[in-house]
Amino acid sequence: MGCCFNCLKSDDAEPSFKKPLTEDTNRSPMPQESPKALSPVDLNDFIIEKVLGKGAFGKVFLVTKKDSGQVYAMKSLRKDMIEQRNQKIHTKTERQILGEVNSPFIVQLRFAFQTPEKLYMVMDFINGGELFFHLRRCSKFAEDRTLFYAAEILEALEYLHMQGIIYRDLKPENVLLDSEGHVKLTDFGLSKKFFSGEKKAYSFCGTPEYLAPEILKGIGHDHAVDFWSLGALIYEMLAGAPPFYSRNRDVMFRNMLSKPAEMKSHFSAQAVDLLRSLLQVDPKRRPISTAEIKKQPFFSSIDWEKLKKRSIEAPFKPKLSGIKDLRYFDKIFTDEPTDDSVPPQTLNSVAKAANKYDDFTYAEVQPQFKVD
Ligand code: ATP
Ligand code: MG
Repeated sequence: MGCCFNCLKSDDAEPSFKKPLTEDTNRSPMPQESPKALSPVDLNDFIIEKVLGKGAFGKVFLVTKKDSGQVYAMKSLRKDMIEQRNQKIHTKTERQILGEVNSPFIVQLRFAFQTPEKLYMVMDFINGGELFFHLRRCSKFAEDRTLFYAAEILEALEYLHMQGIIYRDLKPENVLLDSEGHVKLTDFGLSKKFFSGEKKAYSFCGTPEYLAPEILKGIGHDHAVDFWSLGALIYEMLAGAPPFYSRNRDVMFRNMLSKPAEMKSHFSAQAVDLLRSLLQVDPKRRPISTAEIKKQPFFSSIDWEKLKKRSIEAPFKPKLSGIKDLRYFDKIFTDEPTDDSVPPQTLNSVAKAANKYDDFTYAEVQPQFKVD
C-alpha cells in the first residue's frame, strides 16, 4: 500500500485521491488589511528554479530572489481556477492567515503579490520535505518518532486555535520537516478564521482520509475537526495507512461513521487511549482543547517548555548538502518543467478576473521603494 500512496500523489494517477474536497458555503467578512501590507516585489524579482509540488490551483516552486540570493518556496494559484471552483474566500483566507501567524511550527510568509492571471505567495523554503515523503519511505514510524511529530503538530494547532483559526487540512502532505527535522505546517488553503460571535463553520472541505465525521454530515463544525485529523494522522504514522482506509470512498466514510478504528497489536496502550479519544465520531466526546490532549499519558515524556523552543532534538535529521538540495522532494514534481504560464485559451476569463483580489499583496518588512 505504501507505494500506491506515493504514486497516487500525482495528479495524473487518480485525481480524486487524497485531494482536498472544497465546496464553499461559508461567507465570512474579510478582516481589515494590516497597515504593513504593501507590494515591494513582483514576479521579475525571482528566478524560478524547480517545481516542489502541485495542487488544485497551481504549483509551488523553489525560487531565488535575484537581489538577495535568498531561496524561497513560491506558491502560485490560478485565478481562473479559483473562481471556477468558488474558492476566492478560501484563498483570501489563506493569504490572510499566513500573513498574520507567527509560530516556529508554521511556515512563514515573506511576500505576496499578483498578476492579472495569478496570485503568488512567497514563503520560507522548508527543505526537509513532506512528512508524507518520509512516511512512505519508512512505511511507518516508531512510536517515539510519531510522538515527536504529534507533539510539535499539537503545538502548532494550539497556536492556531488560540487565534481562532481551525486548520482543517491536517495530513502528511501538509506537514513539512525543516533542515533540523522539526515540523512546519504549510497550506492554509482550507483554514477558517472565526470572527467574534461565530461558533461553527459549514464548508464542506478537507481531504477524505482525514475528514472529520461532522464535516461529512454537514452539521456544522469547529476546532474539534483538527483533533479528529490529528488522530487520523497519528494512526497513519503508527500503522502506515490512515484509519478506515478503503480505495472506495463510500466504504471508507461508512466505516468511519459506523465502527471504531482498528487498533493494531503493536500500538502501545497509551497510543490506543489517545487514538480512541481523538477518533470519536461525536466531536463533543473528543478532548475539548489541545491542553487536554497534552495531558494524556501518550505525551507524558514530553517537556512542553523545551518542545515549544524547538529544543528537543528531532529523532530524524535530514541529511542535506545545501539549501537547494531537493532529495526529499518527489521527482514527479522536481523533474517537471518550471513553466508558470497559463494556457492561452483561458486568458479571456483571466482578464476578467484581473485585479479582483484586494488586500492580497504583502511584504513582511516595510518595503524599500524602488527608485529606478
Ligand atoms: P491546496 O490544497 O490549497 O490546493 P496545495 O496542496 O496545492 O494547496 P500546498 O500544500 O501549499 O499546496 O503546497 C503543495 C506542496 O508544495 C506541499 O505539499 C509541499 O510539498 C510543497 N511546499 C509548500 N510549501 C512549501 C514550503 N514553504 N517549503 C517547501 N515546500 C513547500
Ligand atoms: Mg497541500
